[in-house]
Amino acid sequence: MSALPVAWAMSLILPSTAPKAWGDAVRRSARICVATGKEGFNALAFVLYTLAAEQRVGVDAVSMDDVRAALRNPDLHRGDEPTRLRARIQTILEAQGQYHFSLSPARDVETALWRIYREVGHRESYEDWTGIPPSTSELGRQVAALRDEFVMTDEEAAVLPHVPDPVGPVVLRITGQAKISFRSVSAESVVAVRCPPCKRPRMSVELRVDGPEVTFMCQDGHTSRDANPSLTALRVRNALVHHPGPERIPWESEGTVVIDGDLLVAHKGMRENVNPYSDHSRLTFRPEADSR
Ligand SMILES: [Zn+2]
Repeated sequence: MSALPVAWAMSLILPSTAPKAWGDAVRRSARICVATGKEGFNALAFVLYTLAAEQRVGVDAVSMDDVRAALRNPDLHRGDEPTRLRARIQTILEAQGQYHFSLSPARDVETALWRIYREVGHRESYEDWTGIPPSTSELGRQVAALRDEFVMTDEEAAVLPHVPDPVGPVVLRITGQAKISFRSVSAESVVAVRCPPCKRPRMSVELRVDGPEVTFMCQDGHTSRDANPSLTALRVRNALVHHPGPERIPWESEGTVVIDGDLLVAHKGMRENVNPYSDHSRLTFRPEADSR
């Protein structure tokens, strides 16, 4: 269903604050995508969640015919973007108190589930200046991939393969600092994360990973989400795997994990699964090597 292990993919869109039905939708979507080998796990979770809420039934009672009908939902004058399906999803999120829209970033408070929807539904748009319609969102791409030959019956959907449980939140207590490792021509290619309220690099007391969100807490107790664009759930969990401590720390860690020393996280400009502790990952360009 994707390059990620299924439990990892599920955990990235399953924050502990989400409604129970969202968890059911994520699990059923994962089982369907594993069974069919289809892309579109995130989009299918939103379709199942929306249909279950519209019909006031449990997620497992949503019929495959209804899923097919929702995926078709053509909106041909706007390319592949399923705008009517989007409107249905947003109506449900709003009805469940998960909808959020603000033009004022200073007062921007969004639920984790809304954030997941916003990111999968994001469209690049320069329409105001260029007249070119916005790009198709990831949601639109996934819906198009699913719509093509989605032939599962309710009988088949009743006997889907088991998938691992999603991974729950993890709190990392770091004895050193949370640092970002990035490509650079200089030897110093690791920088400490700046605490937004302190406006300077601080010791990190805690990093909390919950679904797609990473919360950074500095030594003075300031907590901030999105403290650094490289501090994504995927990159922080990848950093765990590569941490060179005495014991291997699994990416699927839950609860509280103590990190002895610094935690290096791969910069957003690098691949998500790169080893942030490797010099090779950091120093891809050396002046002396280039002047031969
Ligand atoms: Zn601070």
